[in-house]
Amino acid sequence: MDLYSNCISIPIKVYIYIDAKKRRVIIPKDYLTILVNELKRFANWKGKIRYSWFWSAGVHVPNASATIPGLILVNAEWATKIVLNQDNPHMHDAFAMTIGHEMTHQEKDFYYFDLFTADGKFVNWVDEVHADFGGVQKGLDSSRSRALFAMKYKLSCKKKKDKDTRRDVDKQLDEFTKL
Ligand SMILES: [Zn+2]
Repeated sequence: MDLYSNCISIPIKVYIYIDAKKRRVIIPKDYLTILVNELKRFANWKGKIRYSWFWSAGVHVPNASATIPGLILVNAEWATKIVLNQDNPHMHDAFAMTIGHEMTHQEKDFYYFDLFTADGKFVNWVDEVHADFGGVQKGLDSSRSRALFAMKYKLSCKKKKDKDTRRDVDKQLDEFTKL
């Protein structure tokens, strides 16, 4: 264990424990190493990636955030998926795509705070699509089929809609035609 080991907070550990109990599955003994290794895949990135319970407490959708420059926060739901779905290759791809998506936001964002105007919605929509493409390129070597399975995995995890996972193409096209 190294610099990453202290990034797994008690609330994250408790969240995984409760989730595993709910699902009646056993947490692997080396789950902290599993969590650390999943982040080590992105060791070449210049910023930091950390698990954060506080960032989206209570949201049961795997998600990540790139609001703070140089830092990507991964929520507790992702942490529990990483531990409990370790043997699912689509989970690893979905995580890589999520991190790639957030890395793309960190590189260059056209983020527009005026969410309520047509221009603002359009700029944000373009920004999200751009980040999705960046995620596939960075996380999955631009593999279309891996992206498709990764997206299906993410959809299967989704109970509620959230900002970064609602990549519903029909809805997007519908919004786009209204602009
Ligand atoms: Zn995004």
